[in-house]
Amino acid sequence: MTQHFIVIGNPIAHSKSPEIHQTFAAQVGIDISYRRQYCPDDTASFNAVVEAFFNGGGVGANVTVPFKQLAYASCQSQGGLSEHARVAGAVNTLLLVSDDSSKDKTLYGDNTDGQGLVNHMMSLDWPLTNARVAIIGAGGAARGVILPLIQAGIGQLTLANRTLSKAEVLVDELSAASNAINEHAVKTCATSALTGQFDLIINATSIGLSGDTLPIADDLDCHYAYDMMYGRALPFLQHFAARGAQTSDGYGMLIGQAALSFERWTTHSIDVTQVTTAIQASKKR
Ligand code: NDP
Repeated sequence: MTQHFIVIGNPIAHSKSPEIHQTFAAQVGIDISYRRQYCPDDTASFNAVVEAFFNGGGVGANVTVPFKQLAYASCQSQGGLSEHARVAGAVNTLLLVSDDSSKDKTLYGDNTDGQGLVNHMMSLDWPLTNARVAIIGAGGAARGVILPLIQAGIGQLTLANRTLSKAEVLVDELSAASNAINEHAVKTCATSALTGQFDLIINATSIGLSGDTLPIADDLDCHYAYDMMYGRALPFLQHFAARGAQTSDGYGMLIGQAALSFERWTTHSIDVTQVTTAIQASKKR
């Protein structure tokens, strides 16, 4: 029997999720449909889309920009949240769950973005234990990755942002939501003031979309540089590659977060490396 999935966003035409999830389904031998679902950018429309999809027998939905916070609010009021979704204040994976005592199903939200990033770095053999890490950017993407990185065992974490006050507010909010983050004592600074040697620097800004370049201090250095963007040449990665760092864009994170959603919905395990190779090979054809 075909299992039905959607990704809800606005815009949504560019989403690679259908292709990625169909590759997962082929790997584990199940029949799925996975379609892009455009939604007007308002709460009532989003809730109506989610309700119609699950009432119609849908198994799972991904949520992307600009609806991750709305999905969080729906799950908070109607159902449940994973720890990663609760702390991030954002949901990218929706499903229905029921506890043993009840046949009623409620909406449940998870956030797989941060664990997808961690899993990708581990697959690259990048050492995270005790790593000195800087994240540049304090928007939705940074919000979702901080707890999974701390749980992966990183050392000192610095959050840098163009607007320093947003980094400070984010750290205060996350520290209030999670003891692990509170105890980690995350430092903050303005992006232009980020200097020194780190093991890993992560670009979690949306600057790659604008064509602007990040201000990078001359004495800012790292062994590993990761840009959450993908699909284009990234000056941030070029800068650190020229200084000898290992680099990666965020395509593996995209596949990693999708694999975790798929596993949650279907209970099948995905060989992410095999899927990444298959998708890259299909692009070259
Ligand atoms: P947001 O809009 O929530 O945040 C944008 C961040 O970028 C803010 O910190 C903002 O700083 C900063 N920024 C934007 N323009 C500039 C600039 N010109 N100079 C310096 N800083 C700038 O975006 P998201 O957090 O949702 O997304 C960030 C990136 O992560 C995107 O490129 C997105 O595609 C990528 N992403 C990748 C995923 C993957 O699976 N690979 C998953 C999720 C996101 P300020 O606060 O000062 O405005």
